[in-house]
Amino acid sequence: MPKYVYEFSEGNKDLKELLGGKGANLAEMTNLGLPVPPGFTITTEACRHYLEHGEVPDGLAGEVAERLAALEAAMGKRLGQADDPLLVSVRSGAAFSMPGMMETVLNIGLNDASVEGLAAQSGDARFAWDSYRRLIQMFGRTVQGIDGELFEDAIEAAKRDKGVTSDVGLDADDLRKLVEVFKGIVAERTGRAFPDDPREQMDLAVRAVFSSWNAPRAVLYRRQERIPADLGTAVNVCAMVFGNLGMDSGTGVAFTRDPASGRQGVYGDYLQNAQGEDVVAGIRNTVPLGDLERIDKRSYDELMSIMERLENHYRDLCDIEFTIERGRLWMLQTRVGKRTAAAAFRIADQLVDQGVITLDEAVARVTGDQLAQLMFPRFDEGAERTRLGRGMNASPGAAVGRAVFDSYTAIKWSRSGEDVILCRRETNPDDLEGMIAAQGILTSRGGKTSHAAVVARGMGKTCVCGAEEIDVDTKNRRLTAPDGTTVEEGDVISIDGTTGEVFLGAVPVVASPVVRYFEGEIDPASDQADDLVRAVHRIMHYVDAARRLYVRANADNAEDAARARRMGAQGIGLCRTEHMFLGDRRQLVERLILADTEEEQEEALDTLLPLQQDDFVELLAAMDGLPVTVRLLDPPLHEFLPDITELSVRVAVAEARGEKHENDLRLLQAVHRLHEQNPMLGLRGVRLGLVVPGLFTMQVRAIARAAAERLRAGGRPRPEVMIPLVGTVQELEIIRDASLRVLAEVGEEYGVELDFPVGTMIELPRAALTAGQIAEHAEFFSFGTNDLTQTVWGFSRDDVEASFFSAYLEKGVFGVSPFESLDVDGVGRLIRIAVEEGRRARPGIKLGICGEHGGDPVSVHFFHAAGLDYVSCSPFRVPVARLEAGRAAARR
Ligand code: ADP
Ligand code: MG
Ligand code: MG
Repeated sequence: MPKYVYEFSEGNKDLKELLGGKGANLAEMTNLGLPVPPGFTITTEACRHYLEHGEVPDGLAGEVAERLAALEAAMGKRLGQADDPLLVSVRSGAAFSMPGMMETVLNIGLNDASVEGLAAQSGDARFAWDSYRRLIQMFGRTVQGIDGELFEDAIEAAKRDKGVTSDVGLDADDLRKLVEVFKGIVAERTGRAFPDDPREQMDLAVRAVFSSWNAPRAVLYRRQERIPADLGTAVNVCAMVFGNLGMDSGTGVAFTRDPASGRQGVYGDYLQNAQGEDVVAGIRNTVPLGDLERIDKRSYDELMSIMERLENHYRDLCDIEFTIERGRLWMLQTRVGKRTAAAAFRIADQLVDQGVITLDEAVARVTGDQLAQLMFPRFDEGAERTRLGRGMNASPGAAVGRAVFDSYTAIKWSRSGEDVILCRRETNPDDLEGMIAAQGILTSRGGKTSHAAVVARGMGKTCVCGAEEIDVDTKNRRLTAPDGTTVEEGDVISIDGTTGEVFLGAVPVVASPVVRYFEGEIDPASDQADDLVRAVHRIMHYVDAARRLYVRANADNAEDAARARRMGAQGIGLCRTEHMFLGDRRQLVERLILADTEEEQEEALDTLLPLQQDDFVELLAAMDGLPVTVRLLDPPLHEFLPDITELSVRVAVAEARGEKHENDLRLLQAVHRLHEQNPMLGLRGVRLGLVVPGLFTMQVRAIARAAAERLRAGGRPRPEVMIPLVGTVQELEIIRDASLRVLAEVGEEYGVELDFPVGTMIELPRAALTAGQIAEHAEFFSFGTNDLTQTVWGFSRDDVEASFFSAYLEKGVFGVSPFESLDVDGVGRLIRIAVEEGRRARPGIKLGICGEHGGDPVSVHFFHAAGLDYVSCSPFRVPVARLEAGRAAARR
């Protein structure tokens, strides 16, 4: 029979799965000899049994009785003993921290008799009754499911009657009366009296903690955080120590380093004469931890030395809960603490300096997401700013603009060159255009999976959502801050998507020093570099040497290419050529489409050719010596034609006037002819190349000539020709043969050898499934994971993201959008098949990925594991991909 109960001294920090994080760390501290109140942990296994069978496992009651007896013996008093009660807390604690999801009950063992014993023993009746009312309150809420506000309201009423503002103002008699009120609430709500048998209290609390694993909010939280649903929680039973025994007692939280900046020092909060969550609940003002030195020097010194020990032991930032009972310090919890992005880099760097961890470990402790956060522009912290309020940091960045309260105005104003912030209570699919037009989005409702948050993140647009303290009044076009400040439509506001703050007026924006470092503007060895830049530099230097994956950038012009190169890109993985057909050149495309004869068509192509060629010359120069993958024209042709409605109106108006515009009429016919219901699945990519003769060869010729010119100029051009949307090898064969012919022709023309790879994108399921055949005719594959995700799921991204993705995320259908992070099970499986069969057919084939997933941390790890040669992402994400590629390689 398994063992279900462990004394604290029997566990250790590596037993998180069995004992939960809290239990494992309580055990670790106990074994370090730190002052932890004694207790025991009921395993997650017992919880799993309970959840599966609806009752606790057979041996549990006996084991608990045995451990409890040992605890009682050690403490010299029995649980709830009338004249001198042992009290315990029953605390949840799962393997993964689930903040705010599950519960703890303090002061178990109190009843009408033992409360008197506690009063007598402590010589403090107020304390005893305060503890009792806390028990009924927590037990009622957590175990019996009573609305907590009923208790809060009763406390408020008691304070009002007494004319005091703080709970400290209530004396023993007031609290005794409050206990009666609380008991009344329990009786009324549950139909029975508050249970006064201490052991029953404990058992009910244990079961309640078990059950809380399956509370709806916990289920949802796990689905979103991708925590397995079947782990269960452990339960810790811990002898109570009391911070509410007067001013020589108190409770606090502490960090071994500042979790905000990462710097060393004394960080934390302390509250005298308080218990449990009072410190964080904000019921009274806490004092900074440093003040404890003045209040109780001995406890303070002991705490400092324990914190140092813990940090050296865990070799990382620890956070701590402690309580002081009449001048005696007790440790109640520790764990490796959460931290901001800047703190993560600084701490990793400091710990390497101190010889506590290796660089390999340092790399494991910083993430690409954290690096990305450090790269967003930010509001100037030195600047004066008026804070209006705060919401959730839904999508990072710093945005400034005029407040507008509907999408129509957002679009109108932005067209006339104004920067706007779209302020809504919440957004819906109708707001999409307004969101695109805005610099940033502010909502007063909805969480991080709300429509606004999901769509803004998808667009990379700054968003603060769920700022409930701000009243957004769309009808009267104004918002009101909690302090009464109003912002009318047109007034300028600033929103910080990294912190969730909203400011009045235009807060000045500064570039992040980390970006300036990547851009080469800050030398990490100079005085200009602060400790953060130096930490980033050290880690990047290390990962660049460690990683196996190359990192390229998606860039369409010389400027982006140069920037990408400064950011560390080792080539271009995707140059889209479509923008080269827009602007003035649109007319040329129109001519190409309207051409009736081959001659006309050739003429149009001949005019486009030199223009394309110049584009490529610049691009190849910017990436001299590095590979540049140029994708031949991909989108449907009609994207280059005028809007069908606009054109129809023009023709109709002309007709009504009795005029006839030959060209418009032909254009309209062409637009009709090319109109598609589902352009994403229509005439585009290689299909277009096959039906519009000369289009792709013109592009290849432009690439070839550009390369030849670069060669003449002494450069080292390395273009790669990439054919999009191939579904079958026959498509590829035809285009590839034509491309190779053009390369040979141009080579002859210039008297140089142009031996450039020709390859294809793998972005259709059929291409992935027939990768073996396709590889016979492709020198490289580049996985187009955006289209591959669309086609594998049958999603049209523009449609689904704006319409139902937020509902899917909220219901936990997926934890993260498959466009943000690669769907490893579906899309990833196809990639693995294509990698394996492609390599089998052509062992040296080069494999890369050029979808947006190339800059997503989790996806980069998958691409590393799948054995790709490189990832390609937007220039700004290049450092993130470098870091994650290094982390993937370092993790063994
Ligand atoms: P959480 O996981 O929410 O932090 P905890 O189990 O740590 O919940 O407990 C909630 C609060 O009660 C914390 O402030 C903790 O320090 C305090 N607490 C828990 N057990 C005891 C105890 N035995 N004696 C005194 N305070 C306790
Ligand atoms: Mg805690
Ligand atoms: Mg594509």
